[in-house]
Amino acid sequence: MHHTARGTTPNLEPWEREWALASATSRPSSRSDTISRGATRVLYVTITINEMGNMAYDTRGRPLRARFRSRRPGRRASGGPRSASPKSRYYAVKHARRRRFVVRRFWLALMLVFLVLGVFFYGGSSSELGYVRPASPVEAGTMPEPPRPSPPDLGEVWAAAVAGDSSPDLATNGKTGTSGGRIALTFDDGPDPRTTPRILATLRRHDAKATFFVVGSQVERHPALLRRIVEEGHTIGNHSYDHADMSYLPPAQIRLELLRTQKAVDKALGYHYQMKIMRPSYGEPYFEGSDALPAFRRIVRQEQLFPVIWTIDTQDYLRADNLQGIVRSVVRQDGTRRRKDLDQVVLMHDIHPQDAQALTGIIDHFERSDHRLVSVNELLRDKYPEP
Ligand SMILES: [Zn+2]
Repeated sequence: MHHTARGTTPNLEPWEREWALASATSRPSSRSDTISRGATRVLYVTITINEMGNMAYDTRGRPLRARFRSRRPGRRASGGPRSASPKSRYYAVKHARRRRFVVRRFWLALMLVFLVLGVFFYGGSSSELGYVRPASPVEAGTMPEPPRPSPPDLGEVWAAAVAGDSSPDLATNGKTGTSGGRIALTFDDGPDPRTTPRILATLRRHDAKATFFVVGSQVERHPALLRRIVEEGHTIGNHSYDHADMSYLPPAQIRLELLRTQKAVDKALGYHYQMKIMRPSYGEPYFEGSDALPAFRRIVRQEQLFPVIWTIDTQDYLRADNLQGIVRSVVRQDGTRRRKDLDQVVLMHDIHPQDAQALTGIIDHFERSDHRLVSVNELLRDKYPEP
């Protein structure tokens, strides 16, 4: 190597300065540096615009030139003396820069295409493995057929119910209105990955079926868990999208709460599961005797949903560290109704760890006393028998 230029500061023409900077910033070390080129370009433009004037770099021009030329073995294959004039080298550099610019653009476009494809295929996937978001079939109205066995269909029960009852419902007045000593366990506010799987495992161990009133926003967070609830043979009902107290919502908002939850369920399952039962958050507006009740009843009737309240409240939310208290409370409330052999709807929440712990004791109690565990739908079929 001849470092004849080292230590000298030649007077350079503008084109020479530009050329030297272009060489210094292009760093053509390997083919894989495509990604960093954008940054390189920005640096180059900045220097050019500023016209820094400090040409100390240029004193290193020769080795840089050598490195740059090494990419064109054809020109210097002979290793002979450089024949091109400085001006033609300038145009060669300019040409090379333009070519790299085009190549850069090509790779950028290719990366963009892959990025768009990636978002399209994986963008909707949730944190739960194996869940691939269907392409909004709810909105498109092209939900696939539900698998066999189909979700429970209460269509005929509904028709029979509205024929004789202006507000078909269950357990809204502390009674189910049916007898047979059956117990419908209901779990609200989930699905919740901390507790729902434990509750499902306990139910499976006892071969018991239950009803889950799910919150739409929770379904969106844990779609795989919702699928598991359905696949294990339990019934799901609508419990609003974000657990709103419907006593204070305008009708349009109540409808939206119900619709968004229905959509979340369909999206999670990948097919249309028409929920036919719902439970308003806090059981309202049934308990406060508020003015909102007539409007609420009108909406759920239009939406063809049976409101389902409860007859036994485990009051699990008051007994965080007292699972025996939960079991005793259920046994006591059940005892006071036992003589009449009435069916019961038990309120629990699959968001409380104490419920998952107390569930075995509760099921044991009902099994010992010969109660059969059923879904809410069975009680509704009995309450509204088909003519
Ligand atoms: Zn709730």
